[in-house]
Amino acid sequence: MSDLAEKMFGKVRKIIASGDYMPDLEKLSKPFESKDGIIYLFCKGCGSIYELPASRAAIYAEKAHVKLPETISDEFFECSGCQSCDGPRDQIELKTKKSILN
Ligand SMILES: [Zn+2]
Repeated sequence: MSDLAEKMFGKVRKIIASGDYMPDLEKLSKPFESKDGIIYLFCKGCGSIYELPASRAAIYAEKAHVKLPETISDEFFECSGCQSCDGPRDQIELKTKKSILN
């Protein structure tokens, strides 16, 4: 890859966000692997799932214009794009697993 191409596209090509992934409720119900994780972030752009620590969860809550519940049980964040894909990263919603089942 030429230097210019590398500058333009970066070393790692991002996944093109298709935007139609459905959250895997089984994965979103697993205990957090990280000891700092308090809520899951699901990207519908590429299907990635992340665990957010409280500090990042607060940032996502602000972007989603919601207040984080004191006890998080059924909630998770859904975004349209993330670090792995090229979807819009500022489209964030707080959802409940219950709302997906209905
Ligand atoms: Zn993504």
